[in-house]
Amino acid sequence: MRFLGPELGGVVEELSLETDARNNVLTKDYATSVEGVFSAGNMRRGQSLVVWAIHEGRECAIAVDEFLSKKPTMLNARSESLYEKR
Ligand SMILES: Cc1cc2nc3c(=O)[nH]c(=O)nc-3n(C[C@H](O)[C@H](O)[C@H](O)COP(=O)(O)OP(=O)(O)OC[C@H]3O[C@@H](n4cnc5c(N)ncnc54)[C@H](O)[C@@H]3O)c2cc1C
Repeated sequence: MRFLGPELGGVVEELSLETDARNNVLTKDYATSVEGVFSAGNMRRGQSLVVWAIHEGRECAIAVDEFLSKKPTMLNARSESLYEKR
């Protein structure tokens, strides 16, 4: 059936996450419209390859780390901190 987009309902609806016209979860630096809730992979960027899902997972982990610690990440999946961009 190929990728059909994020499922309607579930956590997206329960948390009232903002979505785009394709039902992908809207994010800014992996953060959704609800504070403390993050999204990555197909749920965020739409249909793609598994290498992108892995990359997105790592980048999202950095965003979560910086959200929780309130300082630049010690994780080294990227050279540029999201925290410093803000
Ligand atoms: C038939 C097929 C073949 C593919 N073959 C390849 C390939 O050969 N090589 C390759 O690189 N990639 C391939 N892909 C793409 C690859 O599977 C995806 O890029 C990858 O699985 C994305 O990972 P993800 O974690 O972002 O999302 P997923 O693996 O799709 O995980 C998302 C999870 O979120 C759940 N979910 C969805 N909506 C909601 C909701 N509203 N509330 C709660 N939970 C929800 C889903 O049930 C699912 O468990 C293929 C995809 C398909 C469909």
